Amino acid sequence: MTTSLSDLLGGVPTDLHIGGKDVPAQDGGRFDVLDPATGGVIGSVADGGVADALAAVDAADSAAEAWAATAPRQRAEIMRSAFELMTSQADDYARLISWENGKALADARGEVAYAAEFFRWYSEEAVRIGGSLTTAPSGANRIVVTHQPVGVCVLVTPWNFPAAMATRKIGPALAAGCTVILKPASDTPLTALAMAKTLEAAGVPPGVVNVLPGRRSGAIVSAMLHDARVRKLSFTGSTEVGRILLREAADQVINTSMELGGNAPFLVFADADLDSAVDGAMIAKMRNAGEACTAANRFYVESPVAEEFGRRLAERMATLSVGPATAEENQVGPLINADAVAKVEGLVSDAVARGARALVGATRPDRPGFYYDPTVLVDVTTDAQILSEEIFGPVAPIVTFDDERESIRMANATEYGLVAYVYTGDLARGLRVSEQLETGMVGLNRGLVSDPAAPFGGVKQSGIGREGGHEGVLDYLESKYVAVQW
Ligand code: NAP
Repeated sequence: MTTSLSDLLGGVPTDLHIGGKDVPAQDGGRFDVLDPATGGVIGSVADGGVADALAAVDAADSAAEAWAATAPRQRAEIMRSAFELMTSQADDYARLISWENGKALADARGEVAYAAEFFRWYSEEAVRIGGSLTTAPSGANRIVVTHQPVGVCVLVTPWNFPAAMATRKIGPALAAGCTVILKPASDTPLTALAMAKTLEAAGVPPGVVNVLPGRRSGAIVSAMLHDARVRKLSFTGSTEVGRILLREAADQVINTSMELGGNAPFLVFADADLDSAVDGAMIAKMRNAGEACTAANRFYVESPVAEEFGRRLAERMATLSVGPATAEENQVGPLINADAVAKVEGLVSDAVARGARALVGATRPDRPGFYYDPTVLVDVTTDAQILSEEIFGPVAPIVTFDDERESIRMANATEYGLVAYVYTGDLARGLRVSEQLETGMVGLNRGLVSDPAAPFGGVKQSGIGREGGHEGVLDYLESKYVAVQW
């Protein structure tokens, strides 16, 4: 069990990281980071304010020209080193993530591997940023297109994947030749601060990656978005905050990428392999105890197999051990904070009041910390709030459907459009349904879609832009067209 920040990663820094230096907040402010398993204090970090945010923009701006001019191969080698360093420190990173976020150690290990992989993938992309040369249709000139770094980027990340949401932005930004200011979530700033140290050790020059924890998030992000030197905002978080930031970014017409909330449907057709559907459901629902934007939020199961699917899922959920995430034997840790537990409890009560039945769970374990038991609800009515809001907890509501058209209609009845899951034994049906689902991603007979080599992102109110894959680096590049006559 972790007892001290100095035990991990040779000491986790707790000040702001600006221009390659660890510095206190200019007003001396600090805030506590809590352990969700106990509600106790892990440590305190510097609380960046507006003056610190502008100092971070100074640092990122000063480093921008040299970093953009650094040979792609050299940038690639630095990122490759970051991948190797992070991988060699994986166990410490996993303990730190588990400690401040509350996710089970196995989930934290999975996150570290996924997070580090963005450095490897984008080290490979850094040397493959192409352009094009074509002849204008008139024949009068050539059209030369090159790609240039967009400039100084503000990256704002959530608490649910403290490492991966940061590397999924830092990786492509550095590959493109941009410098960044990362504003991590206030619940989980330690992983981001540790990462600044890893990146420095990998050879990232001072000022290229700045990390700015700060609880006055509205004020500090707004100050940066109103500084003309900032050219890009990449945000991952709730749709509600995404809307605010899109408005803020409009003032300086800043390039924006938005990875927002989800409300993933999980469709099970009667011809599906039920064992594999239950395996997929366990991953799609229970990774991070349900605290994932990709978490299956609504299960739609075809009538003939609905009862059996619910029974098997409840049986599996009942076997999960709930407790402090840093203890190896626990598969489900605490939720992030007391508000998260209250939200889950409220959604379950509302569903039950409207007629739903719990096959397992719908309870809180009797222990301190922010826990909720794995829960399966059946007979959920279509007007239950739990079907329209992100649950962000270990609860699986099941609704039945009678035919393919109805399943698609129900799946698309949401303003979100991040990911959907489809289980069927008929591949033609799987592809047909996938085409009609209004989401940026589909898991077809698979409960996990996240892959650094694939474009992750949503449609509708789940976001704008893609992270991962080749598409991910394009979000940090501007096309430059030169009309050439020769
Ligand atoms: P959140 O409340 O929107 O916060 C996300 C980040 O924005 C945090 O760093 C937060 O800082 C900051 N923030 C909050 N209010 C702000 C404001 N007015 N101006 C500027 N920044 C502000 O989201 P969360 O609760 O951390 O994360 C959960 C949400 O993220 C869920 O909706 C989930 O679906 C979504 N998510 C989406 C993806 C995806 O790829 N689509 C991935 C992961 C999570 P403070 O912590 O200091 O408030």
